[in-house]
Amino acid sequence: MLEQPYSYQRRELHEPDWRRFPGWSGVTEQEWASPQWQRAHCVKNIRQLRQVLGDGLGEAFCADLERDQRERATMSMLIPPQMVNTMVPGLAPSSAGFTEALYADPVRRYMIPVFSDRRTDWPSHPEASRDSLHEAEMWAVEGLTHRYPTKVLAEVLPTCPQYCGHCTRMDLVGNPTPVVAKHKFGLARDDRLGAMLDYLQATPGVRDVVVSGGDVANLPWPRLEDFVSKLMEIDSMRDIRLATKALMGLPQYWLSDEVRAGMERLAATARRRDVSIAIHTHVNAAQSLTPAVARAAKAMLDTGIRDVRNQGVLMRGVNDSPAQLLDLSFALLDEARIMPYYFYLCDMIPNSEHWRLTLGEAQQLQHKIMGYLPGFATPRIICDVPYVGKRWVHQVSRYDTVRGISYWTKNYRTGVETSDKLALDREYSYYDPIYRLPAEGQDWWRSQAAQEIPAAVGAAH
Ligand code: SF4
Repeated sequence: MLEQPYSYQRRELHEPDWRRFPGWSGVTEQEWASPQWQRAHCVKNIRQLRQVLGDGLGEAFCADLERDQRERATMSMLIPPQMVNTMVPGLAPSSAGFTEALYADPVRRYMIPVFSDRRTDWPSHPEASRDSLHEAEMWAVEGLTHRYPTKVLAEVLPTCPQYCGHCTRMDLVGNPTPVVAKHKFGLARDDRLGAMLDYLQATPGVRDVVVSGGDVANLPWPRLEDFVSKLMEIDSMRDIRLATKALMGLPQYWLSDEVRAGMERLAATARRRDVSIAIHTHVNAAQSLTPAVARAAKAMLDTGIRDVRNQGVLMRGVNDSPAQLLDLSFALLDEARIMPYYFYLCDMIPNSEHWRLTLGEAQQLQHKIMGYLPGFATPRIICDVPYVGKRWVHQVSRYDTVRGISYWTKNYRTGVETSDKLALDREYSYYDPIYRLPAEGQDWWRSQAAQEIPAAVGAAH
């Protein structure tokens, strides 16, 4: 009998032993389980990374990282111990081959990007930009993006317990880097949240709010509970989704008594008012899903909320094979009761070309993962098209594979097109990474760059 292209195997979750790292060799189970200890011991710079990993970390790696931070990084470094511990899970830094394994590690590749990871020919696509999804342009009030007719995104704060190298909101989220000065909110937090509630109260066509940031795990719990409770008092509100990568990066926070009790109160109110509350998390690699993460997800489901769903980001060298996507999806579903929901193409932010896949590669991946998971848990691979929104990768309307330009249409007006009669007839463009194109396409982009003429992209914005 012939083998299937993918072979399903249930795998037990495993918490790697943090005591293999010299800097954490004396850390107790109790300390590790404390969210305060985790936050206080985040790795924020190369010196701290060296302290934790010890002499096993190669000098060349540190120089590579230092150059990246100086010349390319759009996010500063912030990694909770929980996440550091999932890198190279089976090897102590003193073992031969540790630095090579760290270079190859999927979690390292997006949490600790180094200069040699990036493209030197085209580190950024010519059409890449800060705020590549134009979220700030669509703010109805500061921090509230009204892009789709019935749903909004509330950026309630600009920080997270962990900073990911590929963050789409690199324009706003996190600390400045030598390459990127961050946008700052103008309003004080409580005024901003108040203005969001006022807008939603006055806009009954909106039924669905993604409460995000940043990461809601950085908003003090009483403030988050108050905001979500007030959202539920708005008659039109039916769906509330809380966005937190920290369910994976800092599960200790979601397992704390304060947060569990608070979520129970919110879930009880939601049930009474027929509102669905879900948590949306962001796991990109199966090795990130440890027993602590599974406990946190189940603890949240046990509070009575509707669901915990995963929105990963598809990145080369992290999760760009069918087996990696299926292993991750099965681990989420089988071991943590987390619904595999979306994998996004990495957005067109500066210096992200090495992570990005072509639309054609994403379509192939979608094809290859079909049929193994239950239909309701088969993740959709999504292209978030600027000025359009999320589209399944097979929904493209035209695709020029030589120049790597895909064209998309839409069926609603975003917040910036309320009086634009042509918005629904226009085509909007998205771009493959240039280095993946055939020679003819690469030559075309080089000639465009040489002439300094903006790319000819049809009728797109
Ligand atoms: S957790 Fe989300 S918002 Fe925060 S840095 Fe990562 S991708 Fe960006």
